[in-house]
Amino acid sequence: MGRYRGPACKLCRREEEKLFLKGARCYTSKCSFERRAYPPGDHGRSAQFKRRRESDFARQLRAKQKARRVYGVMERQFRRYYEESLQRRGLTGLNLLQILESRLDNVIYRMGYASSRTQARVMVTHGHYNVNGRRTDVPSMLLSPGDKIEVRNGSRQRTYFKELRTISAEKTTPDWVRRDSDALEGEVVRLPERLEIDGNLNEQLIVEYYSRR
Ligand code: SF4
Repeated sequence: MGRYRGPACKLCRREEEKLFLKGARCYTSKCSFERRAYPPGDHGRSAQFKRRRESDFARQLRAKQKARRVYGVMERQFRRYYEESLQRRGLTGLNLLQILESRLDNVIYRMGYASSRTQARVMVTHGHYNVNGRRTDVPSMLLSPGDKIEVRNGSRQRTYFKELRTISAEKTTPDWVRRDSDALEGEVVRLPERLEIDGNLNEQLIVEYYSRR
């Protein structure tokens, strides 16, 4: 599955807010958005003011793009997630967010085993994780309650993972995942509730975007 390979900071500037795509750097003065909080491009500054009167479609599009960028998902796959969310019982918007949160790269990030979803994705593609005892290199794999992840034995001796025990232990995790930092393992306990998912996403606008005819 493809992924965006351009500069991450440009995406924050495009959405005119910090999306925290680069881990620790996002919390320092090196953050591009701290220095240039307007859209990229020659007309970035003027676009910032023009968008004051944006249409419903523009707001729906921006909400969808922002969610895609936060989770690092390409359009085709995002639409597939939307279609799957329609098939599930309950609220479509919440279903969509729960699907996004269930991605393996996001779960690793939520457990504190990576400083960003991008970093989690790289670690998965390099084969450092097992899911339910089996090696996987698919960051988009969707996990269900009861699924367990662990750092593979062969990777535990690497410096990054040795330090990860201490680093992850200092991070808090949401209640829907369980983490054992000493063992470098974790489990999905249940699906997240809405309040446990980043509040700055507007799933209703995303549903409206895909419901348009
Ligand atoms: Fe966004 Fe992080 Fe880049 Fe800042 S440093 S612009 S928050 S990705």
